[in-house]
Amino acid sequence: MYFPLNPEQEMIQVMVEQFAAREVAPGAAKRDESGEFPQSLVWKMAQLGLCGMMSPVKYGGSEVGAVAYVLALMEIASACASSAVTMSVTNLSCEPLALFGNEDQKIRLLTPMASGKFLGAFALTEPEAGSNLAEIRCKARRKGALYLINGSKIFITNGAYAGEIFVLARTGESGGRGLTAFMVEKDSPGLKVGKNIQKMGLRASNTVELLFEDCEVAEENRIGKEGEGMMIVIRALASGRIGIAAQAVGMIRACLEEAKTYSLQRQQFNKFLSGHQAVQWMIAEIATGLEAATLLTLSAAALKDAGRPYMKEASMAKLFATETLNRCAYQALQVHGGYGYTKEFPIERIYRDARVTTIYEGTSEVQRMLIAKETLKP
Ligand SMILES: Cc1cc2nc3c(=O)[nH]c(=O)nc-3n(C[C@H](O)[C@H](O)[C@H](O)COP(=O)(O)OP(=O)(O)OC[C@H]3O[C@@H](n4cnc5c(N)ncnc54)[C@H](O)[C@@H]3O)c2cc1C
Repeated sequence: MYFPLNPEQEMIQVMVEQFAAREVAPGAAKRDESGEFPQSLVWKMAQLGLCGMMSPVKYGGSEVGAVAYVLALMEIASACASSAVTMSVTNLSCEPLALFGNEDQKIRLLTPMASGKFLGAFALTEPEAGSNLAEIRCKARRKGALYLINGSKIFITNGAYAGEIFVLARTGESGGRGLTAFMVEKDSPGLKVGKNIQKMGLRASNTVELLFEDCEVAEENRIGKEGEGMMIVIRALASGRIGIAAQAVGMIRACLEEAKTYSLQRQQFNKFLSGHQAVQWMIAEIATGLEAATLLTLSAAALKDAGRPYMKEASMAKLFATETLNRCAYQALQVHGGYGYTKEFPIERIYRDARVTTIYEGTSEVQRMLIAKETLKP
């Protein structure tokens, strides 16, 4: 693959690769088994500057750009997908403030998150509003200098540990135009963390229900104007989707590594598995998928860094990388035979962790809708 990196991007990649090998990979299987949220590891990731990688230095971020961000995320994801999703959601939660926050909000709300003082969460999904955010029912009603939010959000990554939660709520008419963006602080009266959702994979990431009962949010925590929420979310999610694509790339790399290692040590029919053509073909397909997914992801990130439109490319990268990951995880497990189905080998965890990547931050079907809409424009 040829994708020239500048010295800073190369340095970040090497630094995060070493950090992932030293701190993230060793406990991944144990964390998956216990389902515990690794607060001390997350703190180390924050200290390394992995929380606000696309946010300005002036507001606590490391401002290294989208290419460096995806390179870092690939390294973390290849070691532990749960840690990667924790990191990517905090970076995503910084985006609305970095793009649309006013000076006061950038100082007060962006700085602590981007500098890694605490995690962020991004709360859109509701029981009745998943792919179609225009159905959001969570209501924000004005009361003097406050808004009172009522309703619930479901599947919120980092929800129980975040210091701030980006919330999309309804202030007006039905449909997308009646939605407004807020930053809700952890200790806001009326905010409760609900059920901890038990998942098939990403078990060391935190996914909860959030309940808002007359939850008080100061007017100063509204991002943009009333009715601008959907536009803000669309812009932030484009960036988030490059992150999920990078997460998938890191995991495809792990699939390749596991399949390769196993095929070089297991013998059947008096030959290493790597000597059987059918196994070689599976490995060739995983390697090719890795190359293509990496290039699409880096290219979308480079467009963002260049200030050029990248929404369609972000959706393409997310669609391709996550679908490819699921195919690669299937093949890498197949290479392991029955042993791949046991807890003895990391591919079992990777296979489970991979499944959700075609679902969150916009399902593959939603990505196809967005890509088709852009492509069919006259
Ligand atoms: C582990 C995990 C973490 C998550 N983290 C977050 C988070 O941090 N914040 C957050 O807000 N949400 C989060 N989510 C929620 C996630 O974004 C949603 O699950 C996703 O957007 C899909 O919504 P849904 O589950 O309601 O499915 P639905 O929207 O009900 O869709 C069900 C199926 O129908 C398909 N479908 C729906 N509409 C159409 C259509 N028009 N055309 C074709 N097919 C269609 C979908 O593609 C999907 O296959 C998380 C989910 C999980 C599992």
